[in-house]
Amino acid sequence: MKRLLGTLFAWLLGGSAAIGTDGGDPAGSEGGAFADARRRLLADIDHHTRETAAFTGLTRLSDPVRAAMQRVPRERFVDETHHQRAFSDQPLGIGHGQTISQPFMVALMTELLGVRAGDRVLEIGTGSGYQAAVLAELGARVYSVEIIAPLAQRAHSTLRALGHGDVEIRVGDGHLGWPEAAPFDAIVVTAAPPDVPPALVDQLAPGARLVIPVGLRGGEQELRIILKRADGGTEVRRSVPVSFVPMTR
Ligand code: SAH
Repeated sequence: MKRLLGTLFAWLLGGSAAIGTDGGDPAGSEGGAFADARRRLLADIDHHTRETAAFTGLTRLSDPVRAAMQRVPRERFVDETHHQRAFSDQPLGIGHGQTISQPFMVALMTELLGVRAGDRVLEIGTGSGYQAAVLAELGARVYSVEIIAPLAQRAHSTLRALGHGDVEIRVGDGHLGWPEAAPFDAIVVTAAPPDVPPALVDQLAPGARLVIPVGLRGGEQELRIILKRADGGTEVRRSVPVSFVPMTR
């Protein structure tokens, strides 16, 4: 059991066996071998989903989430020198001390959000724009807040090049949410604050969910799912241990 837990932690905290990308397509990122590599990455994500089911309560990703993960070309969200590693289930550096999240974690959080086409979704921590692209592929109307301006600009260009120019990105402090665009059907936070920012709970529509890593920098963090009830109250579910970059001010 201890060993299983150790393995689980390694996965949840971002470690994982790299997936080979033999026969990669150095000329471009469209189709071909990169599409194969994406299929292998999806198989790896499916495997992690099954192996962690006892802790997440999720045995299988839904078809729409799997399809969205399959469609988004992760290599386009990282520097060219990282293209091969874009297909391994691990976080990668994107500059400014920040990371693109582990694909399994992106898939898990997206699944926990229960996003449906047409939903208004707020993301805090745009980073590379990868999570925003997955949400947009699901048909969500995406609003994303990033505190580091150059990252927000780069994410905007990447998303526009991939046909997701309608994802709205704002440079600012995500602790405040995006009041003018509220209420949201789902909110996902991809950096960890020590406590849940109250503005984010306020900006949930009745029946909406907030998925957020909570914990101290370098310390223990847990993924929480906060459900806004119809009467305005909230229900909190604690999920798996995670490791995210800190949410700054
Ligand atoms: N969702 C991203 C992961 C980004 S990592 C992706 O798919 O690539 C977390 C991001 O949160 C970083 O880019 C970091 O700059 C940003 N961040 C940290 N604190 C923030 C805050 N208070 N408001 C908005 N963004 C913040």
